[in-house]
Amino acid sequence: MSEILLSHVTKKYGPSVVALEDFSLQIQHGECVVVLGPSGCGKSTLLRIIAGLEEPTSGEVFLNGALASSLLPSERELAMVFQNEAVYPHLSVGENLVLGSRSHILRGRSWWQLGRGALFSLLSWKGGKAGSRAKGQQDLSEHFEDIVEFLELGCLLEKMPGQLSGGERRRVALGRALLKGGKILLLDEPLSGLDTNLRSGLRRLLGDLPRQFGHGKKITTLYVTHDQREAFSLANRVVVMNQGQIEQIGRPEEIYQSPANLFVANFVGDYGISTILGRAGVDGECFWFLPEGLSTEGRRLEWPLKNISAKIRQRLQGVSGKVLLGGRPEDFPLLPENEECITATMEGEVLRSECTGPSYCFQVSLLGGKARVWGGLGTSNKLVGEKIRLAIDLEKILFFDQESGENRSF
Ligand code: ADP
Ligand code: MG
Repeated sequence: MSEILLSHVTKKYGPSVVALEDFSLQIQHGECVVVLGPSGCGKSTLLRIIAGLEEPTSGEVFLNGALASSLLPSERELAMVFQNEAVYPHLSVGENLVLGSRSHILRGRSWWQLGRGALFSLLSWKGGKAGSRAKGQQDLSEHFEDIVEFLELGCLLEKMPGQLSGGERRRVALGRALLKGGKILLLDEPLSGLDTNLRSGLRRLLGDLPRQFGHGKKITTLYVTHDQREAFSLANRVVVMNQGQIEQIGRPEEIYQSPANLFVANFVGDYGISTILGRAGVDGECFWFLPEGLSTEGRRLEWPLKNISAKIRQRLQGVSGKVLLGGRPEDFPLLPENEECITATMEGEVLRSECTGPSYCFQVSLLGGKARVWGGLGTSNKLVGEKIRLAIDLEKILFFDQESGENRSF
């Protein structure tokens, strides 16, 4: 049975804003699913509906098989970290962490004044009844210590939020949600607005979440973000979303290598995808592509059918007529001068060069268009105006429908 099931959920705000449209998704127990999409595509709305903070206009949500509309938010056994979640400025880190349980006991007292015993009683709200109470307290205090250790909050417990960095404040908010317990963790862009180092540190931490707390009590995590790096590093499954609808669901490598359409292709990857409009087809013994504006048949790209594997032939079955040839920078390898190449090649000229760290990314003009190409490891920089030659390998490139943007070589 799935832990979270959304069935044809639509959410409208007033007559004109459709935040979610016919949205269906199934998430299994213990899965970590990341919903990836641009700002305004409905990610927060999705989480708020699951948490019971918003009602869907139509459609249904099931949590662990039960219809969620029959459950109060407090009965849903979930914890949520809100986008830009605030920590309470007048409470210490320790107090903030246990907030939501017995915060009134803490108010006005120092964390250390309370001592360990008080901590146990603070946490006993989850301790269960009579006989299981002592064990429950022990479990919870261990849980608390685990979370404090995991999020490296031990030396911050006495501090006030004003004394914390942005990343530390996010760790407190996350700790609060984890401490609240529950089977489901909903995370709404928990790393947005942090600088790169903090983001990667916290991302690693979040990646360890299922492993750290996975024994016996697996957490089902739904994480939403607009950042594809975050999505790819954390998810078992990524759901790419746009304008309230699902564009594609898949493993990170599937989404990257076989994007369902131009939106997905451009949204993932550091540089999106370069496309060249043209016509394609099979003619005699070859598959060909002729960039638009080049009428001379002699200048078309050709790949002899005998060199095309059965797998690629299958993928190319629907590719004919007007199409967009697309590829990521690494899909158009730069060819060293005079190197023989068994696949089709294109010539171009460097328009701009950008250092990516390990190599360079060049923007080049190609027959009938522009493309970004990756120099490859060990390549030296190139001057603007320099001529280059690219291999166009059918194993790598994709073809998209010009009108709908669908990937025809899927
Ligand atoms: P995301 O989290 O992906 O940025 P949201 O779920 O916050 O997107 O919003 C989706 C769409 O719904 C946006 O167009 C937003 O302006 C609209 N929206 C969200 N909440 C409300 C609301 N309470 N009233 C009216 N429109 C809203
Ligand atoms: Mg949002």
